[in-house]
Amino acid sequence: MCGNNMPSDQDIEVTLRTKCANAKRIVVKVGTHVLVNKNGHPNHKRIESLVKQLCFLSRQKKEVILVSSGAIGAGIATLGLKTRPRDLAQLQMAASVGQTRLLNVYQDYFSREKKIISQVLLTHADLKHRGRHLNARNTMLQLLKRGIIPIVNENDVVAVDEIQIGDNDVLSALVATLVDADTLILLTTADGLRQSTGRNTQRVPYLETISDKALNLVFGKTNTLSTGGMKTKLEAAHIAIKAGIPVIIAPGKKTDILKRIIQGDNVGTLIGSEKATVKLRKRQRWISAFHRPEGQVTVDAGAASALLERGKSLLPVGITKVTGNFKSGALIQIVGPNRQILGAGLTEYNAQELERIKGQSGTWIREHLSPKHPMVAIHRDNLIIES
Ligand code: GLU
Repeated sequence: MCGNNMPSDQDIEVTLRTKCANAKRIVVKVGTHVLVNKNGHPNHKRIESLVKQLCFLSRQKKEVILVSSGAIGAGIATLGLKTRPRDLAQLQMAASVGQTRLLNVYQDYFSREKKIISQVLLTHADLKHRGRHLNARNTMLQLLKRGIIPIVNENDVVAVDEIQIGDNDVLSALVATLVDADTLILLTTADGLRQSTGRNTQRVPYLETISDKALNLVFGKTNTLSTGGMKTKLEAAHIAIKAGIPVIIAPGKKTDILKRIIQGDNVGTLIGSEKATVKLRKRQRWISAFHRPEGQVTVDAGAASALLERGKSLLPVGITKVTGNFKSGALIQIVGPNRQILGAGLTEYNAQELERIKGQSGTWIREHLSPKHPMVAIHRDNLIIES
Protein backbone atom coordinates (compact mmCIF):
# COMPACT_ATOMS: atom_id res chain seq x y z
CA MET A 1 0.00 0.00 0.00
CA CYS A 2 1.10 3.63 -0.52
CA GLY A 3 1.48 6.02 2.43
CA ASN A 4 -1.98 7.52 1.86
CA ASN A 5 -3.62 4.10 2.15
CA MET A 6 -4.66 4.20 -1.50
CA PRO A 7 -3.74 0.95 -3.27
CA SER A 8 -0.87 1.50 -5.71
CA ASP A 9 -1.05 0.30 -9.33
CA GLN A 10 1.14 -2.57 -8.31
CA ASP A 11 -1.21 -3.61 -5.48
CA ILE A 12 -4.17 -3.44 -7.90
CA GLU A 13 -2.26 -5.51 -10.44
CA VAL A 14 -1.30 -8.20 -7.91
CA THR A 15 -4.87 -8.43 -6.62
CA LEU A 16 -6.20 -8.71 -10.16
CA ARG A 17 -3.62 -11.33 -11.16
CA THR A 18 -4.70 -13.37 -8.14
CA LYS A 19 -8.32 -12.95 -9.20
CA CYS A 20 -7.43 -14.26 -12.68
CA ALA A 21 -5.48 -17.14 -11.14
CA ASN A 22 -8.54 -18.12 -9.11
CA ALA A 23 -11.00 -17.58 -11.97
CA LYS A 24 -13.59 -20.33 -12.20
CA ARG A 25 -14.96 -19.57 -15.68
CA ILE A 26 -12.34 -18.69 -18.29
CA VAL A 27 -12.69 -17.73 -21.95
CA VAL A 28 -9.52 -18.35 -23.95
CA LYS A 29 -9.28 -16.82 -27.42
CA VAL A 30 -6.59 -18.01 -29.76
CA GLY A 31 -5.63 -16.19 -32.94
CA THR A 32 -5.02 -17.60 -36.40
CA HIS A 33 -1.27 -17.02 -36.32
CA VAL A 34 -0.88 -19.07 -33.17
CA LEU A 35 -2.84 -21.96 -34.68
CA VAL A 36 -1.79 -22.22 -38.29
CA ASN A 37 1.61 -22.31 -39.98
CA LYS A 38 2.74 -19.68 -42.49
CA ASN A 39 1.29 -21.86 -45.27
CA GLY A 40 -2.10 -21.80 -43.51
CA HIS A 41 -2.17 -25.47 -42.48
CA PRO A 42 -3.03 -26.18 -38.82
CA ASN A 43 0.08 -26.25 -36.63
CA HIS A 44 -0.42 -29.62 -34.91
CA LYS A 45 2.25 -29.13 -32.25
CA ARG A 46 0.76 -25.82 -31.20
CA ILE A 47 -2.79 -27.15 -31.17
CA GLU A 48 -1.73 -30.19 -29.16
CA SER A 49 -0.05 -27.98 -26.58
CA LEU A 50 -3.10 -25.69 -26.38
CA VAL A 51 -5.42 -28.67 -25.94
CA LYS A 52 -3.23 -30.10 -23.17
CA GLN A 53 -3.24 -26.77 -21.35
CA LEU A 54 -7.02 -26.37 -21.69
CA CYS A 55 -7.51 -29.89 -20.34
CA PHE A 56 -5.18 -29.04 -17.46
CA LEU A 57 -7.40 -26.05 -16.61
CA SER A 58 -10.44 -28.26 -16.84
CA ARG A 59 -8.86 -30.76 -14.42
CA GLN A 60 -8.33 -27.85 -12.01
CA LYS A 61 -12.16 -27.65 -11.97
CA LYS A 62 -12.20 -24.55 -14.16
CA GLU A 63 -14.90 -24.06 -16.76
CA VAL A 64 -13.23 -23.33 -20.08
CA ILE A 65 -14.53 -21.90 -23.34
CA LEU A 66 -12.23 -21.72 -26.34
CA VAL A 67 -12.82 -19.07 -28.99
CA SER A 68 -10.79 -20.25 -31.94
CA SER A 69 -9.89 -18.43 -35.13
CA GLY A 70 -8.10 -20.17 -37.94
CA ALA A 71 -11.03 -21.44 -40.00
CA ILE A 72 -10.49 -19.10 -42.93
CA GLY A 73 -6.71 -19.68 -42.79
CA ALA A 74 -7.15 -23.46 -42.76
CA GLY A 75 -9.72 -23.24 -45.56
CA ILE A 76 -7.39 -21.17 -47.74
CA ALA A 77 -4.67 -23.78 -47.31
CA THR A 78 -7.00 -26.73 -47.97
CA LEU A 79 -8.35 -25.13 -51.12
CA GLY A 80 -4.82 -24.30 -52.28
CA LEU A 81 -5.55 -20.59 -52.63
CA LYS A 82 -2.44 -18.41 -52.89
CA THR A 83 -3.78 -15.45 -50.92
CA ARG A 84 -6.75 -14.54 -48.76
CA PRO A 85 -9.67 -13.99 -51.16
CA ARG A 86 -11.23 -10.52 -51.29
CA ASP A 87 -14.49 -11.87 -52.60
CA LEU A 88 -16.96 -12.49 -49.77
CA ALA A 89 -18.40 -15.73 -51.17
CA GLN A 90 -14.89 -17.18 -51.52
CA LEU A 91 -14.00 -16.14 -47.97
CA GLN A 92 -17.13 -17.83 -46.72
CA MET A 93 -16.30 -20.95 -48.71
CA ALA A 94 -12.83 -20.96 -47.11
CA ALA A 95 -14.37 -20.52 -43.64
CA SER A 96 -16.78 -23.38 -44.25
CA VAL A 97 -14.06 -25.75 -45.44
CA GLY A 98 -11.56 -24.66 -42.81
CA GLN A 99 -13.92 -24.84 -39.84
CA THR A 100 -14.43 -28.61 -40.20
CA ARG A 101 -10.72 -29.12 -40.79
CA LEU A 102 -9.83 -27.20 -37.65
CA LEU A 103 -12.47 -28.92 -35.55
CA ASN A 104 -11.23 -32.30 -36.74
CA VAL A 105 -7.76 -31.46 -35.49
CA TYR A 106 -9.16 -30.26 -32.15
CA GLN A 107 -11.35 -33.36 -31.88
CA ASP A 108 -8.35 -35.58 -32.43
CA TYR A 109 -6.26 -34.00 -29.66
CA PHE A 110 -9.12 -33.55 -27.19
CA SER A 111 -10.14 -37.21 -27.64
CA ARG A 112 -6.65 -38.26 -26.63
CA GLU A 113 -7.27 -36.38 -23.36
CA LYS A 114 -10.74 -37.99 -23.12
CA LYS A 115 -12.34 -34.57 -23.19
CA ILE A 116 -15.65 -33.89 -24.89
CA ILE A 117 -15.81 -30.73 -27.00
CA SER A 118 -18.67 -28.97 -28.77
CA GLN A 119 -18.92 -26.50 -31.61
CA VAL A 120 -20.71 -23.17 -31.17
CA LEU A 121 -21.01 -20.85 -34.19
CA LEU A 122 -22.43 -17.41 -33.48
CA THR A 123 -23.26 -14.20 -35.30
CA HIS A 124 -23.78 -10.73 -33.95
CA ALA A 125 -27.48 -11.08 -34.74
CA ASP A 126 -27.69 -14.14 -32.46
CA LEU A 127 -26.20 -12.25 -29.55
CA LYS A 128 -28.34 -9.17 -30.14
CA HIS A 129 -31.64 -11.03 -30.31
CA ARG A 130 -32.77 -11.43 -26.68
CA GLY A 131 -34.25 -14.93 -27.14
CA ARG A 132 -31.33 -16.33 -29.14
CA HIS A 133 -28.90 -14.65 -26.75
CA LEU A 134 -30.46 -16.41 -23.78
CA ASN A 135 -30.53 -19.72 -25.66
CA ALA A 136 -26.83 -19.42 -26.51
CA ARG A 137 -26.09 -18.61 -22.86
CA ASN A 138 -28.14 -21.52 -21.54
CA THR A 139 -26.56 -23.97 -23.96
CA MET A 140 -23.10 -22.79 -23.06
CA LEU A 141 -23.76 -23.00 -19.31
CA GLN A 142 -25.17 -26.50 -19.75
CA LEU A 143 -22.04 -27.58 -21.63
CA LEU A 144 -19.78 -26.10 -18.95
CA LYS A 145 -21.74 -27.82 -16.21
CA ARG A 146 -20.96 -31.16 -17.90
CA GLY A 147 -17.25 -30.28 -18.13
CA ILE A 148 -17.45 -29.98 -21.92
CA ILE A 149 -15.24 -27.42 -23.66
CA PRO A 150 -17.25 -25.38 -26.19
CA ILE A 151 -15.21 -24.20 -29.17
CA VAL A 152 -16.67 -20.97 -30.47
CA ASN A 153 -16.16 -19.19 -33.78
CA GLU A 154 -18.09 -16.60 -35.73
CA ASN A 155 -20.52 -18.25 -38.13
CA ASP A 156 -18.64 -16.80 -41.09
CA VAL A 157 -20.86 -18.60 -43.61
CA VAL A 158 -23.85 -16.42 -42.76
CA ALA A 159 -22.19 -13.44 -41.08
CA VAL A 160 -22.04 -10.60 -43.55
CA ASP A 161 -22.36 -6.83 -43.26
CA GLU A 162 -24.37 -5.61 -40.34
CA ILE A 163 -24.65 -8.97 -38.57
CA GLN A 164 -20.90 -9.51 -38.67
CA ILE A 165 -18.83 -9.19 -35.52
CA GLY A 166 -15.78 -9.08 -37.76
CA ASP A 167 -13.06 -10.41 -35.56
CA ASN A 168 -12.73 -13.04 -32.89
CA ASP A 169 -11.16 -10.72 -30.32
CA VAL A 170 -14.45 -8.85 -30.05
CA LEU A 171 -16.39 -12.12 -30.33
CA SER A 172 -14.47 -13.52 -27.35
CA ALA A 173 -15.29 -10.44 -25.24
CA LEU A 174 -18.96 -10.82 -26.15
CA VAL A 175 -18.85 -14.52 -25.26
CA ALA A 176 -17.14 -13.71 -21.94
CA THR A 177 -19.89 -11.18 -21.20
CA LEU A 178 -22.58 -13.64 -22.33
CA VAL A 179 -21.51 -16.32 -19.85
CA ASP A 180 -20.31 -13.96 -17.08
CA ALA A 181 -16.75 -15.25 -17.32
CA ASP A 182 -14.25 -14.41 -14.58
CA THR A 183 -11.34 -13.87 -16.98
CA LEU A 184 -10.73 -13.46 -20.69
CA ILE A 185 -7.36 -14.58 -22.05
CA LEU A 186 -6.36 -13.43 -25.55
CA LEU A 187 -3.56 -15.63 -26.87
CA THR A 188 -1.53 -14.02 -29.61
CA THR A 189 1.91 -14.13 -31.22
CA ALA A 190 3.24 -11.18 -29.17
CA ASP A 191 4.07 -11.35 -25.47
CA GLY A 192 1.51 -8.64 -24.72
CA LEU A 193 1.21 -4.94 -25.45
CA ARG A 194 4.55 -3.26 -25.93
CA GLN A 195 5.63 0.32 -25.37
CA SER A 196 8.60 2.15 -26.72
CA THR A 197 11.63 2.75 -24.49
CA GLY A 198 13.60 4.80 -27.00
CA ARG A 199 15.25 2.40 -29.41
CA ASN A 200 13.61 -0.71 -27.99
CA THR A 201 10.19 -1.73 -26.77
CA GLN A 202 9.15 -3.40 -23.55
CA ARG A 203 6.13 -5.37 -22.41
CA VAL A 204 3.41 -3.43 -20.62
CA PRO A 205 2.50 -5.67 -17.65
CA TYR A 206 -0.64 -3.83 -16.55
CA LEU A 207 -3.20 -1.33 -17.80
CA GLU A 208 -5.95 -0.13 -15.52
CA THR A 209 -8.24 0.85 -18.35
CA ILE A 210 -8.28 1.48 -22.09
CA SER A 211 -7.24 5.10 -22.37
CA ASP A 212 -6.03 7.07 -25.41
CA LYS A 213 -2.53 6.40 -24.09
CA ALA A 214 -3.18 2.67 -24.31
CA LEU A 215 -4.50 3.03 -27.83
CA ASN A 216 -1.35 4.91 -28.81
CA LEU A 217 0.75 1.93 -27.73
CA VAL A 218 -0.74 -0.09 -30.51
CA PHE A 219 1.37 -0.66 -33.55
CA GLY A 220 -1.22 -1.36 -36.27
CA LYS A 221 -0.43 -4.46 -38.28
CA THR A 222 -2.18 -6.09 -41.16
CA ASN A 223 -1.70 -9.60 -42.48
CA THR A 224 -3.32 -11.97 -44.88
CA LEU A 225 -4.88 -14.61 -42.64
CA SER A 226 -6.51 -12.95 -39.65
CA THR A 227 -8.42 -9.75 -39.09
CA GLY A 228 -7.20 -8.86 -35.60
CA GLY A 229 -4.10 -7.07 -34.34
CA MET A 230 -3.66 -5.20 -31.10
CA LYS A 231 -6.35 -2.66 -31.94
CA THR A 232 -9.12 -5.25 -31.87
CA LYS A 233 -7.60 -6.75 -28.71
CA LEU A 234 -7.98 -3.41 -26.98
CA GLU A 235 -11.52 -3.07 -28.33
CA ALA A 236 -12.27 -6.49 -26.91
CA ALA A 237 -10.62 -5.59 -23.61
CA HIS A 238 -12.72 -2.44 -23.46
CA ILE A 239 -15.94 -4.48 -23.74
CA ALA A 240 -14.83 -7.09 -21.20
CA ILE A 241 -13.45 -4.79 -18.51
CA LYS A 242 -16.60 -2.65 -18.60
CA ALA A 243 -18.42 -5.85 -17.62
CA GLY A 244 -15.89 -6.36 -14.80
CA ILE A 245 -14.02 -9.17 -16.60
CA PRO A 246 -10.21 -8.79 -16.42
CA VAL A 247 -8.35 -9.46 -19.66
CA ILE A 248 -4.87 -10.88 -20.22
CA ILE A 249 -3.20 -10.52 -23.61
CA ALA A 250 -0.58 -13.28 -23.55
CA PRO A 251 1.89 -15.12 -25.78
CA GLY A 252 0.05 -18.10 -27.28
CA LYS A 253 3.18 -19.80 -28.57
CA LYS A 254 4.47 -20.47 -25.03
CA THR A 255 3.63 -24.05 -24.10
CA ASP A 256 2.88 -23.29 -20.44
CA ILE A 257 1.23 -19.90 -20.74
CA LEU A 258 -2.20 -20.89 -19.39
CA LYS A 259 -0.62 -22.69 -16.45
CA ARG A 260 1.43 -19.61 -15.67
CA ILE A 261 -1.63 -17.40 -15.79
CA ILE A 262 -3.49 -19.55 -13.30
CA GLN A 263 -0.43 -19.51 -11.06
CA GLY A 264 -0.75 -15.71 -11.02
CA ASP A 265 2.62 -15.16 -12.77
CA ASN A 266 3.47 -11.77 -14.19
CA VAL A 267 3.01 -12.62 -17.88
CA GLY A 268 1.40 -10.79 -20.80
CA THR A 269 -0.54 -7.57 -20.37
CA LEU A 270 -3.24 -7.60 -17.73
CA ILE A 271 -6.07 -5.10 -18.25
CA GLY A 272 -8.86 -4.09 -15.88
CA SER A 273 -9.77 -2.50 -12.57
CA GLU A 274 -12.75 -1.63 -10.39
CA LYS A 275 -12.55 1.84 -11.90
CA ALA A 276 -13.01 0.51 -15.43
CA THR A 277 -16.09 -1.53 -14.50
CA VAL A 278 -19.48 -0.06 -15.39
CA LYS A 279 -22.13 -1.49 -13.09
CA LEU A 280 -25.23 -2.39 -15.11
CA ARG A 281 -28.22 -4.63 -14.56
CA LYS A 282 -28.40 -7.76 -16.76
CA ARG A 283 -30.80 -6.28 -19.30
CA GLN A 284 -28.79 -3.06 -19.56
CA ARG A 285 -25.62 -5.09 -20.01
CA TRP A 286 -27.25 -6.98 -22.90
CA ILE A 287 -28.28 -3.69 -24.47
CA SER A 288 -24.91 -2.02 -24.03
CA ALA A 289 -22.60 -4.89 -25.02
CA PHE A 290 -24.57 -6.52 -27.82
CA HIS A 291 -26.12 -3.64 -29.75
CA ARG A 292 -24.59 -1.01 -31.99
CA PRO A 293 -26.26 2.41 -32.28
CA GLU A 294 -28.26 2.71 -35.50
CA GLY A 295 -29.44 6.32 -35.16
CA GLN A 296 -29.87 9.27 -32.84
CA VAL A 297 -32.54 11.44 -31.28
CA THR A 298 -31.81 14.91 -29.97
CA VAL A 299 -33.81 15.93 -26.90
CA ASP A 300 -34.63 19.25 -25.20
CA ALA A 301 -33.45 20.36 -21.76
CA GLY A 302 -36.62 19.14 -20.04
CA ALA A 303 -36.23 15.62 -21.39
CA ALA A 304 -32.51 15.65 -20.59
CA SER A 305 -33.18 16.44 -16.95
CA ALA A 306 -36.02 13.86 -16.75
CA LEU A 307 -33.60 11.20 -18.04
CA LEU A 308 -30.51 12.20 -16.08
CA GLU A 309 -31.97 13.37 -12.80
CA ARG A 310 -35.31 11.66 -12.44
CA GLY A 311 -34.72 8.25 -14.05
CA LYS A 312 -37.70 8.67 -16.40
CA SER A 313 -38.47 7.14 -19.79
CA LEU A 314 -37.94 9.24 -22.91
CA LEU A 315 -41.24 10.70 -24.11
CA PRO A 316 -41.90 11.81 -27.72
CA VAL A 317 -42.65 15.34 -26.48
CA GLY A 318 -38.99 15.89 -25.51
CA ILE A 319 -37.56 14.85 -28.90
CA THR A 320 -36.46 17.70 -31.18
CA LYS A 321 -34.62 15.84 -33.95
CA VAL A 322 -34.40 12.31 -35.38
CA THR A 323 -31.30 11.16 -37.27
CA GLY A 324 -30.85 7.89 -39.18
CA ASN A 325 -33.10 5.27 -40.63
CA PHE A 326 -33.74 2.67 -37.94
CA LYS A 327 -36.42 0.12 -37.12
CA SER A 328 -38.31 -0.15 -33.84
CA GLY A 329 -36.25 -2.14 -31.35
CA ALA A 330 -32.98 -0.62 -32.60
CA LEU A 331 -30.44 0.94 -30.25
CA ILE A 332 -30.36 4.70 -30.71
CA GLN A 333 -28.23 7.33 -29.01
CA ILE A 334 -29.80 10.18 -27.09
CA VAL A 335 -28.13 13.53 -27.65
CA GLY A 336 -28.69 16.48 -25.31
CA PRO A 337 -29.43 20.09 -26.31
CA ASN A 338 -25.69 20.88 -26.14
CA ARG A 339 -24.84 17.96 -28.48
CA GLN A 340 -23.53 15.82 -25.61
CA ILE A 341 -24.36 12.08 -25.64
CA LEU A 342 -26.68 11.44 -22.69
CA GLY A 343 -27.10 7.72 -23.22
CA ALA A 344 -28.74 5.21 -25.52
CA GLY A 345 -31.72 2.93 -25.55
CA LEU A 346 -33.96 0.62 -27.55
CA THR A 347 -36.57 2.61 -29.42
CA GLU A 348 -40.26 1.67 -29.41
CA TYR A 349 -40.78 3.41 -32.77
CA ASN A 350 -38.96 3.39 -36.09
CA ALA A 351 -37.32 6.54 -37.45
CA GLN A 352 -40.28 7.61 -39.64
CA GLU A 353 -42.76 7.17 -36.79
CA LEU A 354 -40.52 9.11 -34.38
CA GLU A 355 -40.20 11.87 -36.95
CA ARG A 356 -44.00 12.10 -37.00
CA ILE A 357 -44.54 12.07 -33.23
CA LYS A 358 -41.51 14.09 -32.08
CA GLY A 359 -42.53 17.08 -29.93
CA GLN A 360 -46.07 15.71 -29.52
CA SER A 361 -47.77 15.38 -26.14
CA GLY A 362 -49.30 12.23 -24.62
CA THR A 363 -52.77 13.59 -25.41
CA TRP A 364 -51.86 14.02 -29.09
CA ILE A 365 -50.50 10.44 -29.21
CA ARG A 366 -53.67 9.05 -27.58
CA GLU A 367 -55.84 10.96 -30.05
CA HIS A 368 -53.87 10.28 -33.23
CA LEU A 369 -52.43 6.80 -32.75
CA SER A 370 -54.06 3.49 -31.89
CA PRO A 371 -54.15 2.43 -28.21
CA LYS A 372 -51.52 -0.25 -28.88
CA HIS A 373 -48.90 2.43 -29.56
CA PRO A 374 -46.62 3.01 -26.56
CA MET A 375 -46.68 6.41 -24.85
CA VAL A 376 -42.89 6.39 -24.53
CA ALA A 377 -40.21 6.59 -27.22
CA ILE A 378 -37.69 4.67 -25.09
CA HIS A 379 -38.83 2.88 -21.95
CA ARG A 380 -36.58 3.38 -18.92
CA ASP A 381 -36.02 -0.42 -18.68
CA ASN A 382 -34.38 -0.17 -22.09
CA LEU A 383 -32.24 2.88 -21.34
CA ILE A 384 -28.59 3.22 -20.48
CA ILE A 385 -27.61 6.63 -19.20
CA GLU A 386 -23.96 7.73 -19.51
CA SER A 387 -22.54 8.43 -16.07
N1 GLU B 1 -13.64 -16.25 -37.92
C1 GLU B 1 -12.35 -16.14 -38.57
C2 GLU B 1 -11.72 -17.51 -38.78
O1 GLU B 1 -12.02 -18.42 -38.07
C3 GLU B 1 -11.35 -15.39 -37.75
C4 GLU B 1 -11.57 -13.96 -37.51
C5 GLU B 1 -10.37 -13.41 -36.71
O2 GLU B 1 -9.26 -13.89 -36.88
O3 GLU B 1 -10.57 -12.53 -35.89
O4 GLU B 1 -10.89 -17.70 -39.62
